Amino acid sequence: MPTIDDVTAIPLRRELDERFANAQKWIDSREYCLVRVKAGEQTGWGECWGPVAGNRELVEEYVAPRLRGRDPTNVEQIHDDLVFELRSSYHSYVPASVVGGVDIALWDLRGKLRGESVASLLGGRRRDSVRAYATGHFFRDVDSFDALRAAVVEEARGHVKAGFTALKNKIGLARHTPWGREEDIELVRAIREAVGDDVTLLTDANHAYDAADARWVGRRLADLDVRFFEEPIPPEGIDQYARLNDALDVSLAAGECWAFEGEFRRAVEAGAVDYLQPDVTSAGGITSTDRVASLARSANLQAFPHVFGSAVALAASLQVLATLPGEPLLEFDRTPNPIREDLAVEPITNDRDRVPIPDRPGIGIEVDEDILAEFRVD
Ligand code: CA
Repeated sequence: MPTIDDVTAIPLRRELDERFANAQKWIDSREYCLVRVKAGEQTGWGECWGPVAGNRELVEEYVAPRLRGRDPTNVEQIHDDLVFELRSSYHSYVPASVVGGVDIALWDLRGKLRGESVASLLGGRRRDSVRAYATGHFFRDVDSFDALRAAVVEEARGHVKAGFTALKNKIGLARHTPWGREEDIELVRAIREAVGDDVTLLTDANHAYDAADARWVGRRLADLDVRFFEEPIPPEGIDQYARLNDALDVSLAAGECWAFEGEFRRAVEAGAVDYLQPDVTSAGGITSTDRVASLARSANLQAFPHVFGSAVALAASLQVLATLPGEPLLEFDRTPNPIREDLAVEPITNDRDRVPIPDRPGIGIEVDEDILAEFRVD
């Protein structure tokens, strides 16, 4: 087996034609820090969560020297060693995004070296395609609430016309717009009226609310038959989550801001949510996401991975989704994003409301080197 001889961080960035917002921030560009790990003739690809700044330096200056010479198929050992060493070096701050980027690249590499898909290495596929929900319906640069509602409703109708049977919209307007919780509910009501009762609706507040507003909004979302209310409150408030989960009829979902098994275990033990949403790029890679999925299974909860990345994150998430029991849903970002759409030689696309899961070695995609060069910013 060849040993690891190169670990490189590759920063990608693309300005968007039109900016959009969630409750946290305006988004006017998409940027990613990919991780490329080479062993002999094989290459594995991973992706870190978040800005390039920080991730790039840690991958190249801290991780690369520790990985060179190691057996790339010892993925869980390397993952655990990396977490241990990063904790020693950075104490309470363990950069899970860096661990995630490296871990995904190692799983891809392990699969390619063994000639097996990651799903196969994780125990085998339960499905060849997965039902996807259309993530979108972000806030726009408009002057009136009527214009925002019209844009969001038009978008929802478009997704249903394209075959989607589940949609997720954004609420939490008060932080970045002149509107507030009344209009948040009005957005969901307008989508429900436009698409009818048969479409599954999910709603995401990006932890915008205080406890009282979260309860007020959650009660109304239950009346609109929302399947889950995502990140109603800040991620560190595990006990507040548990109280909210007890008080509300609508199910709660969270996890994109939690990392490694320990944070998810605390949430499970507190009864914080019904749906765990680990993200392969931010929770600590495929290793951590698979461990969180096992934790969910042992607690009789569903894990629905969070996905908002490039084609690498999407492909890695699909490999995990292939293995999950029950009826998992893929978060399928529908915002315009050339890095997500063009980076893989064979793009991952939906067929109505399902997304086929590649069944090739590793995470199942081939990175287009020309597109990579086009978006590379170093
Ligand atoms: Ca979210």
